[in-house]
Amino acid sequence: MARNKYGRRRVLVTGGAGFLGSHLIDRLLDRGDEVLCVDNLFTGDKSNIDHLVGHTRFEFMRHDVCFPLYVEVDEIFNLACPASPVHYQHDPVQTTKTSVLGAINMLGLAKRLRVPIFQASTSEVYGDPEIHPQTEDYWGNVNPIGIRSCYDEGKRCAETLFFDYLRQHDLDIKVARIFNTYGPRMHASDGRVVSNFIVQALQGHDITIFGDGSQTRSFCYVDDLVEGFIRFMEAGPDVHGPINIGNPHEFTIRELAEKVIEMTGSTSKLIQLPLPADDPTQRQPNIGEARKHLDNWEPKVQLEEGLRRTIAYFADKV
Ligand code: NAD
Ligand code: UDP
Ligand code: UDP
Repeated sequence: MARNKYGRRRVLVTGGAGFLGSHLIDRLLDRGDEVLCVDNLFTGDKSNIDHLVGHTRFEFMRHDVCFPLYVEVDEIFNLACPASPVHYQHDPVQTTKTSVLGAINMLGLAKRLRVPIFQASTSEVYGDPEIHPQTEDYWGNVNPIGIRSCYDEGKRCAETLFFDYLRQHDLDIKVARIFNTYGPRMHASDGRVVSNFIVQALQGHDITIFGDGSQTRSFCYVDDLVEGFIRFMEAGPDVHGPINIGNPHEFTIRELAEKVIEMTGSTSKLIQLPLPADDPTQRQPNIGEARKHLDNWEPKVQLEEGLRRTIAYFADKV
């Protein structure tokens, strides 16, 4: 299978200069693969891959996945897409294009090469869910015309494309529905709740709770998530998903804020700001499918330990 003259596997990671992509690349390089990182640096940052510059098995290509890409690889991880509400709402048309055109181009590439392709889908495909916890057979409750729709519907359409390439072209697809993930290399200013609260606490600023803080999320530490990605790609040609990957421990946003204050020893106060439109009230993955198909995968790093590592990362930055 390996195309490289040294017999190594060559892996394409789109969105590889981002938060999740850069951690995935570290894992792939650690196990001996060659990695081609394709990223247009819209939300990604070269500082996430700085430590890899000069690595003999790493290559960076600045490219927008909305345009065709002709390269030779053995596996594709398609992660390119802005992920935080602040980022994906900045240029919503581009967000939909990235999800849809990016999926078409990467699927076309996988079809030409006949190689497996992984899609970073999202719990947002469930919208504001009426089923709790969310199982993969739930079709979701998504507003098609709201401010989150560019992301939610873009990712839903990408899933459709992946399953049509499976049905029509017998492609080995792997669709993962990722739930909120956190850890080092999150953007300090992309508005996501874990990074926001940690940075606010470290700087002694008010902690901004949107709404009354009773909405819930389930936070997965990045290393656990990447382990799930690797196992999914290794799961063989009959495992296509969609598979939820996330941590099933659910917390209210207020509980998260209180935990961050306690762990940083901050004197910051909690303040309430208006809840953004279409903000889901609850979210928790059912990870039965992941356990079943991904060799009993489940998260190992619990919130307190993950927050400790993430706080240490931001303490160096701010
Ligand atoms: P991120 O913003 O840090 O990374 C996304 C990367 O994609 C960035 O480096 C960005 O520059 C790149 N990119 C964006 N548009 C591109 C384009 N048109 N062409 C090439 N590169 C492009 O976000 P992340 O948290 O690392 O998310 C990675 C993937 O995982 C995304 O697809 C996201 O939707 C998905 N996801 C993430 C989470 C999470 O909690 N972090 C949850 C669900 C799904
Ligand atoms: N494509 C690509 N790299 C490849 C092969 C295809 O970027 O190596 C893109 C190309 O832009 C094409 C898209 O993938 O439009 C879909 O390819 P597919 O073969 O499925 O469709 P078709 O070319 O028949 O429209
Ligand atoms: N949130 C908050 N304060 C912030 C940032 C986010 O209360 O400073 C809330 C937000 O309204 C949402 C939850 O935290 O209910 C998670 O937000 P995030 O943007 O991290 O992810 P998503 O909504 O996409 O799950």
